[in-house]
Amino acid sequence: MTSIGIMGGTFDPIHYGHLRAAEEVRQGFQLERVVFVPSGRPPHKAIDEVTPPEHRYLMVELATADHPHFEVSRLELDRVGPSYTFDTLLEFRKVYGPETDLYFITGLDALLDTPTWKNYPEMFKLADFVAVTRPGYDLSALDTLKATLGEALFKKIHPFPVTLLAISSSDLRRKMREGESVRYLIPDAVVKYAEKERLYLD
Ligand code: NAP
Repeated sequence: MTSIGIMGGTFDPIHYGHLRAAEEVRQGFQLERVVFVPSGRPPHKAIDEVTPPEHRYLMVELATADHPHFEVSRLELDRVGPSYTFDTLLEFRKVYGPETDLYFITGLDALLDTPTWKNYPEMFKLADFVAVTRPGYDLSALDTLKATLGEALFKKIHPFPVTLLAISSSDLRRKMREGESVRYLIPDAVVKYAEKERLYLD
């Protein structure tokens, strides 16, 4: 049975925390590859608070280019309307069929909100979900999620502690806005791209 990882995120911008998490999940779950899916229009964010999708997509391309088992998908960029994970997983199921195990990978904080996501009971039938956390994270937050989802759906969520390096996209945006260095937190090619395109300056 083949297993594929689907790394979902806004990636505004992508950083070494995301890349390291993808690598550790790839190894831990023995995934044949990890497909990064930058969100086109994040359903839970105002459009003017997110960097245009083509920029975020290109930064993910630059960050993953040298990894033979990482790919990037334009699926959510090329689909109109909000980027619902349910729609994305339906597409992946159509492409890979029932014989492939699909693991949707994202931050635990994002997954805590899944009871508000489109068609979430159906969504959990399409894939397993890897909730990446920092080692030592208080997993009691999951108790409420378990009570809301019920045992059967909750079983599809796999908390997975990774070396997240305590990097966050919002902190990186603040650093760049305030002229602080982000070297060694983000791949060099992504730093150069953001500088060239004058991203995150205001
Ligand atoms: P977010 O709300 O911006 O992020 C929540 C937390 O998770 C942040 O700490 C974030 O860190 C972290 N995170 C996000 N993606 C990650 C990843 N792939 N690996 C490790 N940590 C990650 O989350 P988001 O990025 O906008 O959304 C995450 C995924 O959930 C996306 O694929 C999005 O489309 C999906 N989603 C779907 C629905 C829906 O279908 N209705 C609603 C919401 C989200 P950073 O800020 O450093 O990334």
